[in-house]
Amino acid sequence: MSKDYPNFSLAGQIALVTGASRGLGRGCALALAHAGADIALGLRDVNTAADLAAEIEALGRRVLRLQMDMTRLDQIRRAVEQAVAHFGRIDILLNNAGVGPPNPAEQVREEDFDFTLGVNLKGTYFASQAVGRQMIAQKYGRIINMSSQAGLVALPTESVYCMTKAAINHLTKCLAVEWAPHHITVNAVAPTFIKTPGTEKWLDDPDFKASVIARIPLGRVGEPVDVAGAVVFLASPAASLITGATLLIDGGWTAS
Ligand code: NAP
Repeated sequence: MSKDYPNFSLAGQIALVTGASRGLGRGCALALAHAGADIALGLRDVNTAADLAAEIEALGRRVLRLQMDMTRLDQIRRAVEQAVAHFGRIDILLNNAGVGPPNPAEQVREEDFDFTLGVNLKGTYFASQAVGRQMIAQKYGRIINMSSQAGLVALPTESVYCMTKAAINHLTKCLAVEWAPHHITVNAVAPTFIKTPGTEKWLDDPDFKASVIARIPLGRVGEPVDVAGAVVFLASPAASLITGATLLIDGGWTAS
């Protein structure tokens, strides 16, 4: 590969994707495999995603399913150990797992607050720590956090969710600076509304969908592949001087 041209290949690399069973996690796992990486699938329930594993194998890549409930630090640590034991290293971590139940601020209970922070923020933090230790030892790594446009703009009834995504944007900067000496880059992607199992119940409502599209200058909601392209880029050698960035994939929502 000539050094004069950007290299977008992930051939020979190992990627761990959390919350990989469906939606953006699934789409990104397939895209990372398509770009050449072998894939460790972090799953809330390891008995799911057999079809996804088969699709990754059909692309000619190795795949490992891991029990990895992001609210369980013991499972996060064990899953990372298993991935390293199986593949020998982890080059790429996609912190994708996330929840965003509607939570009108005046009704939020402590358990609602703890649940969303537990998966989105604490899970992301400790998965980054567990994989970061391995990346420090191997002197190389790419961490990509799944943020949201909701980390930059407010979405009504989503204050807890929005707060976790804003925190993820800042965590991205903190880890980027702290781990840069170890040749680890840390970036985030921040999508607008993307069609996934998690959003279909809202986007299937024509009035809600129209109100969303009215705020997106490019005039459409996203598909997982719109996010997967940015994830593959940030994981690739072509992005080696990019760290601490949050890349908006919002069709212009936050620019308008
Ligand atoms: P989704 O369709 O609801 O899928 C969520 C994924 O997270 C599933 O694989 C789910 O596993 C997993 N998950 C949930 N709780 C978990 C836990 N405790 N441990 C491990 N995995 C867990 O959601 P999505 O729309 O693809 O969203 C994925 C990420 O993108 C989230 O971080 C979300 O905030 C972010 N995002 C989404 C959008 C959007 O419009 N779709 C926009 C911006 C950001 P199970 O299937 O086992 O439940």
